[in-house]
This record gives sequence, C-alpha cells and structure tokens, in this order.
Amino acid sequence: MAEQHKTKKPPPPHVLLFPFPSQGHINPLIQFAKRLQSKGVKTTLVTTIFTSNSILSNHSHTTIPIESISDGFDHGGSAAAGSSEIYLESFREVGSKSLADLIRKLQSGGTTINAIVYDSFMSWSLDVAMEFGIDGGAFLTQACAVNNIYYHVYKGMLSIPPPDSSRVSVPGLPELEYWETPSFVHNPGPYPTWSHIVFNQFSNFHQTRWVFSNTFYKLEQQVIEWMKTLWPLRVVGPTIPSMYLDRRLEDDNDYGFNLIKPNHSECMEWLNDKPKGSVVYVAFGSYGELGPEQMEEVAWGLNDSELNFLWVVRASEEEKLPKGFMDRKSEKGLVVAWCRQLEVLSHESVGCFVTHCGFNSTLEAISLGVPVIAMPQWTDQITNAKCLEDIWGVGIRVKRDEKGIVRRVNLVSCIEAIMEGEQGVVARRNAKKWRDLTIEAVAEGGSSDKDIDAFVSDLNHSH
Ligand code: UDP
Repeated sequence: MAEQHKTKKPPPPHVLLFPFPSQGHINPLIQFAKRLQSKGVKTTLVTTIFTSNSILSNHSHTTIPIESISDGFDHGGSAAAGSSEIYLESFREVGSKSLADLIRKLQSGGTTINAIVYDSFMSWSLDVAMEFGIDGGAFLTQACAVNNIYYHVYKGMLSIPPPDSSRVSVPGLPELEYWETPSFVHNPGPYPTWSHIVFNQFSNFHQTRWVFSNTFYKLEQQVIEWMKTLWPLRVVGPTIPSMYLDRRLEDDNDYGFNLIKPNHSECMEWLNDKPKGSVVYVAFGSYGELGPEQMEEVAWGLNDSELNFLWVVRASEEEKLPKGFMDRKSEKGLVVAWCRQLEVLSHESVGCFVTHCGFNSTLEAISLGVPVIAMPQWTDQITNAKCLEDIWGVGIRVKRDEKGIVRRVNLVSCIEAIMEGEQGVVARRNAKKWRDLTIEAVAEGGSSDKDIDAFVSDLNHSH
C-alpha cells in the first residue's frame, strides 16, 4: 500500500482560458490550450453563453471542455447590446460576477483551478482570479509592436493623437509616421471605450504572474527584449494549428471552433481546378466592415485584374456588393461567406493574400509563407501592415485616396506587382524565410516551445 501511495501521480494542473468572445481572440487561446494539453495540462475554455451557443464546433479537432458565463446578452451577444460601449460595460460587470460564480461552482464540485489565462482586453478577470487566490496570466493577442505603442500611451510617454507631422519613436521599432500607429492612437475619438481598454490593459500587469504573447521571438526580437524588462513575458506564438507548422499535434489541422459555417468543399473544389499560384485570396476578417464605396472598388478591382480570386464576403456584408457583380462572376471568381482560411492559404493555387491585417491573418500569412497585399482598416491592423511591408518584407500596402478609399486601379497594380512583378519575388522569398523561422519557434526546443514549457513548469511547481 505504502509503495502504491508513493507512486501515485498527482492530478495534472488545471488552467482556465478566457478569450474575448470573437473569432480572432478565441482562435489563439484555443491553440494555446491545445499546446498545454499536449504537455499534460488540463484546460477548460470559458466563454460567454451566446458564443458557446454559436460555436460550430468540430470536435474532432479539439477535446477542450467549455464552460459558459453570462455577459448580460445571452441571446444576442454584442450585436444585441446596440453599441460596443454598452456591451463592454455589461461584459465587465455581469461577466465578473458570472466568472466568480463559475469558479465557485467548479471549486465546490472538487475541481482545482491553478491558473486563469485571460485575454488582456478583459483585465477585470484578474480581479476575479485574485479574489479566489488563483494566479492570473494576461494573454496579449496582438503584436508586441502594437502593445508597445499602447503601453507608451498608457504611461503618458506618447501623446494621443501624435501631432500630424511628428514621427513616433518607441523602443524596439523603427520610427513610425504618426498615421502608422494603431487607429486608437492616431485617431482616438471614434471609439472611446475601445481606446480605454487597449491603453489600460497594462494597468494590473504588476499583479499578474505571467504575460503571454501570441508572437515569436525572431519576428519581434527587439520589442520582445524590451518588454521582457517590464513584465514576466512568455512568447508562445504563433498559435497556428500544429499540422501547418511542426506537425507534433496529430489531427490539429483546424482551430476547431467556427462562429460562421465555412463553405469548405466549394472553396476546395474551386481551388483544386486552378493553376498553381494563380489565385488572389481576399478576406477582411470576422469583425470589420468595409463601407459600400470601398466594397465596390474592391469588387471592380478584382474583376478588372484578370487574375483568379477567392473573396470572403460575410453574409452581413453581401448587400454592399455592387449590383450585377455576382451575376458577372465567372470561372475566375468565387465569393463565399466564410472559408477555412488556413486551408485556403496553404493551397498551392493561392498566390497572394489581400488582407485587413488582423494579427491572426498576419501570422497565418507569415506562417504559411504567403505574400500579402495589406489593406488595413482600423485598430492594430494599420501597424501590422507597416510591419508586414517595411519590417518583415512580405508584401506591400495598397494606397488610399484622400477620402481613405483604396481605388480599384491601386488594388490592381498591387495585385500585379505581387503576382507578376519583382516585388512579388522578394515578398515570396521573405515569406518563405519567415515560414521556416516560425516552424523553428514552435518545434521542440524552439523559443515558443521553451516559453510554454516554462509556464508548465511553473504550474507543476506551484500546485
Ligand atoms: N478566418 C476564417 N475564415 C475566413 C476568414 C477568417 O477562418 O473566411 C479566420 C482567420 O483564419 C483568423 C480569424 O478568422 O484566424 C480572423 O482573425 P484576425 O485576427 O485576422 O481578424 P479579426 O477577425 O479579429 O478582425
């Protein structure tokens, strides 16, 4: 008996992961959870009731249990709130109580919680974790470059908006034109609640045990080194399904939780018919919206370009397509409401990616070695686009006119430059280099793998 007692293994540490409830924030936390699971950690995803009811889960890709909490809008989510101000306030207030109730419920059922890894957009989660004496880890889903700029605003070291003619200088980054900073910095007026959230995500970092970032060391080396002097930063990205990178997690070939149903077979059948490198893939993410005029310019630009295109237009955006565009759609163009972006980007027919430069799309392009045409809209996308073109060298930014609209001629000339010109050759070469470095980062013993191991070791030692 005594012998048996000695060899009994302790239960694995258990981590709750709590993403902001949108596709671009759920994906990285799910992938982080899968990596933790593969290293023997028990993980539970916490999301809102509305999100959990909307998730079209493909459970062959994940075995992560889900627990739900209320954000105050169980039946319609943020859309039902009417404004992001109302939603975010309700999420903070109702979400805090509901998260505390969940922790109580789990603990009284005998479940140990060793850490809560929460999206840094919901810094209030740390207050809840601390109420229960649980260690918290903030997860930054955006680039360190972007967070570095936000941090400087938070500390009062960068004024907002920066004066028009000024250049912005922060450690670890080349000088930026004022308009290359995130929109909340150079145009802080329109979304005061979002601005408040992004600037104040650091307010309680001195109380977190860990700060995680979905980037990788070589991608943002100088910024990361600077940030490591501030916080216990663990750089654990990119959080792309393993089968696209190091292939260590068998069957991990999809994020596994879609909020919109992908038109998968239609996309694949169409792509399979196209010559290698011939397709322009166009997608602007899960959240942002193009204005009607912009939508029209993109549509006619793709039409004029003579190249094949696959364009994701979410159902809510479809009515902005110009009249007649869908009818004139030919063999060369396919418009779908959603796709499995990773499968599309890794398809050999795809030659470039016209992207809004959300950080997941940015990392996916880099990880899969696909050159980009950057068409950022707002928030961090503008700075990501700068990095994609000028720092990482994997694409070009398309110019806007004085109204802020990307005209069709500009889009067409960027497409030609990347698909057929010298700029495309250079971007493809650099993209391939980044792909190799990405795989190196997440492979066994790579920089991101080591940072995940360090976290697991912390968990194992403190529990
Ligand atoms: N995505 C997808 N199918 C699509 C368009 C996007 O699966 O048709 C995924 C994409 O792979 C990425 C996420 O949705 O992981 C979007 O995140 P991102 O940070 O790029 O943009 P956001 O939606 O947050 O603006």
